[in-house]
Amino acid sequence: MRIDIATLFPELMESYLSASIIGRARDKGIFTAECHNIRDYAFNKHRRVDDTPYSERQGMLMQAEPIYRCWQAVCDMQRRQPHVIYMSPQGATLTQKKCIELSKMDSLFILCGHYEGVDNRIIEKIVDEEISIGDYVLTGGELPALVLVDSVARMLDGVLKEEDGYMDESHFNGLLEYPQYTRPEVWEGMAVPPLLLSGHHANIEKWRHEQRLITTYKKRPEMLDKLSLSDEDLAIIHKVDEG
Ligand code: SAM
Repeated sequence: MRIDIATLFPELMESYLSASIIGRARDKGIFTAECHNIRDYAFNKHRRVDDTPYSERQGMLMQAEPIYRCWQAVCDMQRRQPHVIYMSPQGATLTQKKCIELSKMDSLFILCGHYEGVDNRIIEKIVDEEISIGDYVLTGGELPALVLVDSVARMLDGVLKEEDGYMDESHFNGLLEYPQYTRPEVWEGMAVPPLLLSGHHANIEKWRHEQRLITTYKKRPEMLDKLSLSDEDLAIIHKVDEG
């Protein structure tokens, strides 16, 4: 997979993209991520990429042309049109399902807005979808783009050590993950659930399923509304209410 990111602050992105699991995945060539400075495509004396919005007195808006040129350069380089995502508080909220969907694509072009956002015509011209990371407004699309790249990249084969590690994790199957513990066995008087030390895999799997249900019910009960739960699952949840 190849990911191109159009931003006014490539240096902000690079350090994150070079570190830890994501950095190693890039080094191994599992995916390519390249940041493009939109300012490099502003062919005016002062490399200006923004201007005041029509009919508003305050704020600055990113102009369409430098973004368009940046996108064209990426299309020319790749000899194909990547799937274009504009990070925007107006977009659909990012979900695990969307990350899985995007991880199957060959090429993504992510546009990061700044200031008041971008001239709407660039959205009409090149953007396939707008994605938000939540119902709040940030100063720029750089953090949202990093959230997107991280969450999509870890779905790619070979990025996580355990190939199917993410399948056990929260949100993959509509539930939250079960509680996890590491050494020591007893910490501050609190012991690890003895079953986890038993080595009995079938019982541990059963416990994990129960704990997924209980954790989801306690922390995000609305998530359960989207699932069709068995009578056994419902009985596990009822036990939580009974204390
Ligand atoms: N004026 C815009 C509005 O009200 O919809 C907000 C612009 S925001 C200050 C500047 C840029 O930050 C946006 O163009 C977008 O790229 C990014 N951004 C801000 N909040 C975001 C969010 N929740 N999800 C994704 N991107 C966001």
